[in-house]
Amino acid sequence: MFDWLIVGAGFAGSVLAERIASQRGETVLIIDRRNHIGGNAYDCYDEAGILIHLYGPHIFHTNARSIFDYLSQFTSWRPYEHRVLSSVDGKLLPIPINLDTINRLYDLDLSSEQLEAFFAARREKVEEVRSAEDVVVSTVGRELYEKFFRGYTRKQWGVDPSQLSKAVTARVPTRTDRDDRYFCDSFQFMPAGGYTRMFQRMLDSPRINIMLQTDYRAIRGQIPYRRLIYTGPIDEFFDWKLGRLPYRSLSFRHVTLDTELFQPVAVVNYPQCEDYTRITEYKHLTGQRSAQTSLSYEYPTDMGDPYYPVPRTENETLYKQYEALAAAFPEVWFVGRLATYRYYNMDQVIGQALATFTKIQKLLPVGTTNQGRLYQAAE
Ligand code: FAD
Ligand code: UDP
Repeated sequence: MFDWLIVGAGFAGSVLAERIASQRGETVLIIDRRNHIGGNAYDCYDEAGILIHLYGPHIFHTNARSIFDYLSQFTSWRPYEHRVLSSVDGKLLPIPINLDTINRLYDLDLSSEQLEAFFAARREKVEEVRSAEDVVVSTVGRELYEKFFRGYTRKQWGVDPSQLSKAVTARVPTRTDRDDRYFCDSFQFMPAGGYTRMFQRMLDSPRINIMLQTDYRAIRGQIPYRRLIYTGPIDEFFDWKLGRLPYRSLSFRHVTLDTELFQPVAVVNYPQCEDYTRITEYKHLTGQRSAQTSLSYEYPTDMGDPYYPVPRTENETLYKQYEALAAAFPEVWFVGRLATYRYYNMDQVIGQALATFTKIQKLLPVGTTNQGRLYQAAE
């Protein structure tokens, strides 16, 4: 008998397991259908001894000191500022678009001021910026949109940027200076021993039991618990009764080469003709030294594990209907990127999990968990 059943051992589930065990002294069974903890942030050593991210590059960045301090209990850090190049017209150019991107793409020697005027002359007037296309064409114009964003976004999401909400491309700023960092956040680090090691420390408690390769749908009704935290896809929890929420997936090709370094930065984006969207070279993230190097190629797909909620108005509408169903299950807490259908970064999921814990503390004072009903299933 467990006080809590937590479905999913990614950030959402693991942060809550850690908080409940350490702050409430209650017992937790955390399950995951994969054969490891860490969710999409899982990393492992490959055959060449290189620490790779099985589900693509994960760079920790946040402006919230409280979130950085929270994780610092479980890891030390390696300072790392992420830089990305985009392969456009045969050149490797900084993305986000900055002064060097434009000067090198067009063989110019513009100043920041001149670049402002360059963009002003090209940007399109958009009455109301609504779509992922609008964001870019109203900032840098159509030609740069087509070179850097249209092809990448179509590959990544399987739909045209005009069909996606503006939040998707608004994640990538445009700059008129030479700052070539992908993120501007005040805290940018990689966990020194890797993400999986950090998750192991979070879950290292006699009150936390972990069951892997265990699907919630398969054990529903077999394991007794008092309260449930669910971090899987919300439509799946309700047996897709209102229809399927689209989640975009990725297929990864991991390769190791007998060469010390393959590309100048950790990630190179391919917005033009290749099938893949980006290539990651992991040694840049970890600072490891080796005569070999490991890469992953990302091929977006609709098949496979759900990775990304697809930000579109119609999907948001369907999610809201599931959210209304969820409101009828006050003993179940829906948390994380899949259960709340949010295109969240790791720090946002950690923030959401910590905020959920605060609510739990308010609604269920310590010692009252076992006054709830005993559940055997999602009854
Ligand atoms: P997940 O990590 O998806 O964990 C959910 C877990 O629940 C999974 O392990 C799943 O197997 C399990 N599960 C689901 N359903 C069931 C079930 N029925 N039974 C049992 N288990 C179940 N964020 C950043 O901040 N920086 C980055 O650089 C970054 N890069 C990313 C790159 C890629 C390719 C992707 C896909 C995401 C990236 N993210 C990044 C986002 C980051 O992965 C997420 O914000 C974070 O991992 C979400 O945590 P979560 O716990 O909500 O979900
Ligand atoms: N994007 C693009 N070209 C790029 C980088 C990003 O078109 O070179 C778009 C694309 O739609 C992508 C979105 O901007 O999905 C957000 O980019 P981000 O790097 O944040 O994606 P993530 O790391 O979450 O996959």
